[in-house]
Amino acid sequence: MFQQIFSSRAGLVRGLAAVALLATMFCSTGCHLSWRTQSKPLRALLVTGGCCHNYQLQSEALTNAVSKLTRTVWTVVNEGGSGTRAQISLYDDANWARGYDVVVHNECFADTTDTNYIRRITAAHRAGTPAVVIHCAMHTYRAAGLDDWREFLGVTSRKHDHQSRYAVQKIEPAHPIVQDIPDDWKTPMDELYVIDQLWPNARALATSVSERDGKTYPVVWINQYGKARVFGTTYGHSDATFRDPVFLGYVARGVLWAAGRD
Ligand SMILES: [Zn+2]
Repeated sequence: MFQQIFSSRAGLVRGLAAVALLATMFCSTGCHLSWRTQSKPLRALLVTGGCCHNYQLQSEALTNAVSKLTRTVWTVVNEGGSGTRAQISLYDDANWARGYDVVVHNECFADTTDTNYIRRITAAHRAGTPAVVIHCAMHTYRAAGLDDWREFLGVTSRKHDHQSRYAVQKIEPAHPIVQDIPDDWKTPMDELYVIDQLWPNARALATSVSERDGKTYPVVWINQYGKARVFGTTYGHSDATFRDPVFLGYVARGVLWAAGRD
């Protein structure tokens, strides 16, 4: 029967129309979900480790939040100890990002300064591997003289304010990354990063106001770096933040957006 239906171009069109009709008749929201879960899984790499944060808890919370939205195959690389200066073996290979749809950077190595090492990381993104950058990634390679990493991030930051519960103001409320953040949401106790510069290809999606200097700083943004989409947020210091469904929700949507699945 199928041979008969699809034996001509007109038959093929009729066949597809029949499938579409059946889908309309029998599909509900659950059907959409089952199509989505049957699509190719997202191949995601999380790079984490270094100073100052509970990366085990953060990694578990983050990977679970994304996996709730889409079928994801995670690779987690937690290397470099708990200091501020390390060069992890992952980046020894120039093709370190090959095979991944998105790379999440949640590492914290402020005092690593090797130019070739840093450029092996940014080169993979410039060539098109999408990225998500969280919290201390913004202070990683802070001591380095070159700006490549900061251009990749979309922001330049060198310090942060004290911990507090910061109100978050949406700048583009309809953007899929931030649309579900409640208008009155405040972060759990977290650090506000002082942003010295938003790079030309970056756009703030949400901001917070410093309690110290009264200035407004981007806290959620998107960036275009070479061929890659980049999504970033400076929140993500505390365990409480990584237990907050609003934070996990916008970060998970940011992972999908960066990977082009928005
Ligand atoms: Zn922190």
